[in-house]
Amino acid sequence: LQNAELGKRAPRWIRDNEVTMCMKCKEPFNALTRRRHHCRACGHVVCWKCSDYKAHLEYDGNKLNKVCKDCYHVIIGCTDSEEKKKKGILEIESAEVSGNSVICSFLQYMEKSKPWQKAWCVIPKQEALVLYMYGAPQDVKALATIPLLGYTVDDTPRSADLPHSFKLTQSKSVHSFAADNEELKQKWLKVIHLAVKGET
Ligand SMILES: [Zn+2]
Ligand SMILES: [Zn+2]
Repeated sequence: LQNAELGKRAPRWIRDNEVTMCMKCKEPFNALTRRRHHCRACGHVVCWKCSDYKAHLEYDGNKLNKVCKDCYHVIIGCTDSEEKKKKGILEIESAEVSGNSVICSFLQYMEKSKPWQKAWCVIPKQEALVLYMYGAPQDVKALATIPLLGYTVDDTPRSADLPHSFKLTQSKSVHSFAADNEELKQKWLKVIHLAVKGET
C-alpha cells in the first residue's frame, strides 16, 4: 500500500509464518516475550512494542485499530494536514497577519443597515488584495474578509455618515468604514486605492 492509501484500503495481510522477525525493529519473534501482532493499516507483522499505537482506519468505518509506529505517524500526519487544508479562509490568526501587514488598525465598520461595530482590520502583506476583519487583535478567526479587487472607493462622507468614513461598493454590496481621525483614514485609502485596482 502507498502511504496515501494507508487506512483507506484493507492491506494485504502478511501471514505469521512469512516472517521470523518484527518487520519494524527486526527483533526475532518467539513464543513468550516477542509474539506476532498485525498492523491493521499496512498488514505487516510486528512485535507488541512496534504495534502499540491506535489510529482510526477509514476502511474499517473509522474505528480505532492497532497499527504500527510507521503507519501511525503517516496516518496522523495525513489527517493533520488535511484538517489544515479544510480550515477556511477565515481561520487565520489575527496576530499572524497583523504582524506582517501592509496596514492594520481598528476601524468602525458597517454593512448594509446593521449598526456600526468596531473591528480590527488588517491587510496582510502576503495577500494585499484582501481585507481581514477581526473582533479583536488576538482573535484566531476573522469575522469576515473582503476581496478588494474591483470595489469602488467612495471617500466623501455625506452629512449622515460618521466623520472620517469611506465606502467600498461593488454591485449590491456596500461596506462602510470609519477611522478615528483623518490621518488614519488617508492611510487606509492609500492602501485600498491600490488594492481595488489589483496593485500592491
Ligand atoms: Zn518490533
Ligand atoms: Zn503498519
